[in-house]
Amino acid sequence: MFRLLAHQKSLPFRRCLATHAVSIPSSITRHDWTRQEIQDIFNAPLMDLVFRAASVHRKYQDASKVQLCTLMNIKTGGCTEDCSYCSQSSRYSTPTKASRLLDIEPVIEAARKAKENGSTRFCMGAAWRDLAGRKRGFERILEMVREVRGMGMEVCTTLGMLSPDQARQLKEAGLTAYNHNLDTSREFYPQVITSRSYDERLSTIDAVRDAGISVCSGGILGLGEKDEDRVGLIWEVSNMSEHPESFPVNALVPIAGTPLEKNEPVSYHTLVRTIATARVVLPSTIIRLAAGRNTMPESEQAMCFMAGANAIFTGEQMLTTPCSPWDEDKAMMDRWGLEGMQSFEQVNVARKERPATNTLDETRTKGIASDSVHV
Ligand code: SF4
Repeated sequence: MFRLLAHQKSLPFRRCLATHAVSIPSSITRHDWTRQEIQDIFNAPLMDLVFRAASVHRKYQDASKVQLCTLMNIKTGGCTEDCSYCSQSSRYSTPTKASRLLDIEPVIEAARKAKENGSTRFCMGAAWRDLAGRKRGFERILEMVREVRGMGMEVCTTLGMLSPDQARQLKEAGLTAYNHNLDTSREFYPQVITSRSYDERLSTIDAVRDAGISVCSGGILGLGEKDEDRVGLIWEVSNMSEHPESFPVNALVPIAGTPLEKNEPVSYHTLVRTIATARVVLPSTIIRLAAGRNTMPESEQAMCFMAGANAIFTGEQMLTTPCSPWDEDKAMMDRWGLEGMQSFEQVNVARKERPATNTLDETRTKGIASDSVHV
């Protein structure tokens, strides 16, 4: 017994974690979750839920790694959509002023700065409904994608609704991931947005997936939804043909002038509960602790990481709300023994980048596939 313990102790700690982070075949993920199963997970005593989520996280991913992403608004405000939380909608009177699509150079400069500071994913957002009638603007964005990808970074965009052909062009330019949130459950959605349907959102997600681009799709807490809606959102993505490679969990930052300006902030315990449930149901997905993080004390953020969150936005600014700066985030991660993920380190993202390695990865990891269905 002593010899066994001594041997275990001699193993380098990070190596132990890393052995659980070998390539994960898509066959470990379940696509037949019922809403009741997910509701039962969500309703579990919080300590039990966090423990379960932490266990799933350690079994299927390297829990010491956190993806550092930097977000940049490349076209601000003036959006015709009516998302009731958004300061960029032209339907509301908010402090956000509309601007034109940025030139390429300042965007590349911002990506360079993000990379120098340790971010490995750069995400560019444009506030508009879709790319219809924006041929020249789209060409400029394709060039931005090529340039950022050429720097060795993962590159993500969020540009509203996409057609299959636009998704294909983004993929050819080197796009790693596309963000298109479902925001909430199908039932609650019409109370938040009326100018685009839930099914239109799902069509864009299908186009992105079909083009071979990683999907980033999650939601916002604090819209006035109930627990059933938080569960409904997780259920919706869990039943997709592939789980999204990334699931952002945002806490609403109420913006003056929007219909939700007076909403009560979502409770911290609900945030943790949602993250932990998503981690259990989506074991190979990156769970992204997104908007609202900068107001959370470090201990609360650490509990989110324990519950399975493994990506953050870091830098100077989210799209329209404040962000925690790089140096603070790096210091926090050091204190908790966390380190930044490398570009394309996450298995599901890498699989889409290098499809030829897919078969090899699945063969190597066959052993863990059979016992890992019931998470
Ligand atoms: S969330 Fe996006 S689509 Fe909705 S109003 Fe804001 S910028 Fe437009």
